[in-house]
Amino acid sequence: MGILLVGAGVAGAALALALKEAGLPFLWLSEEVGGASRVPVALVNPVRGRRGVLVPEGGEALQAARALYGRYAPLHMGLLRPVPEGEREAWERRLRGSGLRYLWRREGLYLPEAFWLEPGPFLERVWAELGGVRARVAACAPGEVVLEGGRRLRPEVVLYAGGAKGAGVFGLSGRFVAGLELLLAEYREEALSYRVFLAGWALGGSYLDLPGYDEPEPQEGETAWLLEGAEALLGYRPQVAGVWRGVRFRRPAPLSPIPGGYALTGFGSTGFLLAPLWAKRLVQALG
Ligand SMILES: Cc1cc2nc3c(=O)[nH]c(=O)nc-3n(C[C@H](O)[C@H](O)[C@H](O)COP(=O)(O)OP(=O)(O)OC[C@H]3O[C@@H](n4cnc5c(N)ncnc54)[C@H](O)[C@@H]3O)c2cc1C
Repeated sequence: MGILLVGAGVAGAALALALKEAGLPFLWLSEEVGGASRVPVALVNPVRGRRGVLVPEGGEALQAARALYGRYAPLHMGLLRPVPEGEREAWERRLRGSGLRYLWRREGLYLPEAFWLEPGPFLERVWAELGGVRARVAACAPGEVVLEGGRRLRPEVVLYAGGAKGAGVFGLSGRFVAGLELLLAEYREEALSYRVFLAGWALGGSYLDLPGYDEPEPQEGETAWLLEGAEALLGYRPQVAGVWRGVRFRRPAPLSPIPGGYALTGFGSTGFLLAPLWAKRLVQALG
């Protein structure tokens, strides 16, 4: 067989679409549709952290992400990042010449091309349209992949997009960082972010380092931390209607060779920003 693609989160979906566009046949397997990528709301934001550092190639990645998701899901455009007056000059220096569109509002930096989306419907649509098959990879060796139940496949190229959960099976190391998104009783069309983010029905941004892949119960301090962040932005504590937990996977670079193929994984908190650009690059290299 030719190309085997493993995983149906945002990295897998972006790879599947790029392979299809390049006319390269592939078999797409995944245990579930989306792991960490089932986050209720994903913010696609190239300006990160409290200091407002631009993700390397963030402007280009944002364009690729917008073009890809825009074909499958409504995109909610615009992100406001409150920035204290005294820090604006330093932010401005970092952003000037970046190619990224931005403007200053009274409250802070406004990124008209950053956006948020609900990943669930996007992932399900791509999976259904491109004919993904549900199966779990139980083990792998160079040139061979063993599925749960014992079936053996011998692909020419394996593309791993199995995120945090599948990393152990493929012998990939990295940092595992759990986090919460709280679902709120109120809706916000334009994303707002400083320390935490508010977008749609969600409040996100918590971090909890883990020794390995695990899905621990939400910690009491995490919820309080998120709500304090929301209060700082809104002036009141929003009401919580639900909780979603997931595990991020962070590696030094999102693309790396593995025996018999490549891994596109380890995006940390920026999978939705970076996966479309890196998937396109990987598929161009394969073609
Ligand atoms: C709380 C939280 C909030 C976040 N917020 C954002 C955000 O706002 N913006 C943003 O860009 N990113 C955000 N992230 C990070 C983002 O979710 C990840 O970067 C991204 O989802 C990783 O996608 P992935 O495709 O690499 O992995 P995943 O989405 O985890 O997908 C892995 C896929 O592989 C499958 N799989 C795994 N193991 C196997 C196996 N052995 N056999 C077969 N299939 C397998 C899984 O079923 C799944 O379909 C957040 C993460 C968390 C936890």
